Amino acid sequence: ELVEAVRLERLASVGQLAAGIAHEIRNPLTSVKGFIQLIMARGDRPVPRDYLEIILTEIERIEKLIREFHLLARPPQTPQFALLNLRVVLHDVVLLMESQALSKNVALEFMPGEDVTVCGDVSQLKQVWINLLRNAIEAAPQGGSVDIALRADGNWAVVTVTDNGPGIPEDILPHLGTPFFTTKQDGTGLGLSVCYSIVQNHGGNIRVNSRPGEGATFTVQLPLADNTAHISATTGRKTKGGLA
Ligand code: ADP
Ligand code: MG
Repeated sequence: ELVEAVRLERLASVGQLAAGIAHEIRNPLTSVKGFIQLIMARGDRPVPRDYLEIILTEIERIEKLIREFHLLARPPQTPQFALLNLRVVLHDVVLLMESQALSKNVALEFMPGEDVTVCGDVSQLKQVWINLLRNAIEAAPQGGSVDIALRADGNWAVVTVTDNGPGIPEDILPHLGTPFFTTKQDGTGLGLSVCYSIVQNHGGNIRVNSRPGEGATFTVQLPLADNTAHISATTGRKTKGGLA
């Protein structure tokens, strides 16, 4: 059957986030320290390659956590709102993600329905679809497919990202967007939190549809540009003209 969740707000306090990141970084740090101690205890004997590989992997994990955490914790007053042609924005994002799709032999297809204009921060919105496409490509099987589509519906721009992966179990849906919630071995659980907070700041919402066993669809709705005067009012920024 079809399960659906609409998530509007799941922003943890800075304190909770800080505690979470400290906890997440402690494990890889402990392991790096442990392996360096092992290496030092070896004296002049050569360093096993395995040890170095573990150290490198753990450092890369810390880097990834910090990179994604930084996006989440960035002060909210930075967005630069402008009129954006979403067809162009999504085209750029798809180009960016193509190599990741290729390396997994996943067919990444963009279906631009029409020109759709929203008022938003181009780099923040790109980050939303980068994160959603990354999850979709990770979920898709070898040789699978990921589709991204754009259309206007009423007062909304609607972007859907669909994969043919395993889908999302119903009991997991309520946890999506909770910082650090991940079911992946090497996940950070920050990607969707970043998406939810950005989309919320743009006056939009994210919907998740999944038929377990048949893949997942993430739908981002953003107010069409004619409709977004109130956003620039609340951010205190003037809406700039011209399409990005
Ligand atoms: P991460 O990708 O680091 O795990 P995210 O916040 O991006 O963190 O995603 C959180 C969790 O949501 C994932 O671990 C996964 O369980 C689930 N998820 C997200 N997107 C999908 C998808 N397209 N298909 C199946 N599960 C997904
Ligand atoms: Mg992710």
